[in-house]
Amino acid sequence: MPKPHDDCLFCSIARQGAYVHKAKGFVAINDINPQAPVHVLVIPERHVDTFREVGAFDAKESRRMLEFVAETAEKVGLRDYRVMVNVGPSAGQTVFHLHWHILGGGPGSGADVPSAVAVAEVEQ
Ligand code: AMP
Ligand code: ZN
Repeated sequence: MPKPHDDCLFCSIARQGAYVHKAKGFVAINDINPQAPVHVLVIPERHVDTFREVGAFDAKESRRMLEFVAETAEKVGLRDYRVMVNVGPSAGQTVFHLHWHILGGGPGSGADVPSAVAVAEVEQ
């Protein structure tokens, strides 16, 4: 597991938290302040401050990260959704550990099931 950055909220969440999905190198959690009926954050265990440094991930990890975003959306019951990354403070980034927002759950999104946001059982 990559070395955590001291005092990084998402480094500590990546090590211990209530995950909706987890796989080697990545976790997904419910956003504490949801902006949609389903609002999940995908967090890589590897710390990079922003998406600008996405090149720190090798090709395999980058591919795996994108696949994990899609798997997470499916796991929380979303068929249609938005994926978003805020890059830098003036673009709305408030936590400086790369993360992907998955937003959905509006009518017809395939997520109008209450259990979709429940914390799933996770195999470690
Ligand atoms: P951003 O503004 O793109 O950096 O996204 C940071 C997101 O993290 C926001 O949507 C916050 O609501 C969310 N957030 C902050 N602290 C926590 C936490 N402890 N657990 C879950 N989500 C959090
Ligand atoms: Zn971090």
